[in-house]
Amino acid sequence: MANEPTIAVVTGGASGIGAALVERFLADDAYDLVACLDVAADVEETFDDPAVRAHRCDVTDHDRVAAVVDALEEEGRIDAVVNNAGFSRYAWIGDLAPDDWQEIIDVNLTSQYNLAHTAAPYMYEREHGYLVNVSSGAGKRGSASGGVHYSAAKAGVFGLTKGLAKQLAPHVRVNCVVPGLIETPLATDSDLWTEEGLAEAADAIPLERLGHPDDVARVIQFLCGDGAAYMTGELVAVDGGSALR
Ligand code: NAD
Repeated sequence: MANEPTIAVVTGGASGIGAALVERFLADDAYDLVACLDVAADVEETFDDPAVRAHRCDVTDHDRVAAVVDALEEEGRIDAVVNNAGFSRYAWIGDLAPDDWQEIIDVNLTSQYNLAHTAAPYMYEREHGYLVNVSSGAGKRGSASGGVHYSAAKAGVFGLTKGLAKQLAPHVRVNCVVPGLIETPLATDSDLWTEEGLAEAADAIPLERLGHPDDVARVIQFLCGDGAAYMTGELVAVDGGSALR
């Protein structure tokens, strides 16, 4: 096992927080290969580095995720999985159709089950590994702009994290990061926020700015390392103090 290439899997690695995390993993050389799973059409072109393997993969598709995970395990050992892919679309509850509800639950919550179900048993069997799930302040406080489906999915991530942390202990540490408002396409190029709304939200943050993708990536990197050796089942806010309000 010691000589097998080590692999970190990052979902949603083509943009925002996921892309910042891929860069961090590359910079500290902690893994021989970083596998980036994303639906983005240009995912293969996002990183010009042989240590990154881009997989065009919809993480809501369980069979596709299983195939990618099994293929990666053929060539090395997955040591870290970061469930980061996610998005939302605003909808007034009265207009929130069942399919729209299900889509957001699938992308933000079921996808995390898909990766845990397929990859965690390999790590558990080897008695080593890290799993980090990305949630959102919306899961704690609720979000009107993100829609109730997004809030519900992100709250579900808390339960998934804690249940997995218990089941996979003591071999795999499972933690969750809870970002506040982070400057990524999800916040700046979507219908969730207007420019004025974002500026107002930034003013209300105790640290007086929106988060950078790397603010979150460096905490995920920490949770995947020895510095967090005695942490599992934690929900770690990275929100500039927004949770204080
Ligand atoms: P982003 O839009 O920059 O990146 C999200 C990535 O996920 C994109 O590359 C997208 O293609 C990918 N993706 C979406 N659906 C997918 C699917 N079905 N299969 C595979 N890949 C898929 O957004 P971000 O802000 O970096 O978001 C990362 C995570 O952080 C998400 O889970 C999001 O909910 C969470 N988050 C973001 C904020 C914020 O303010 N930006 C706040 C709280 C939580």
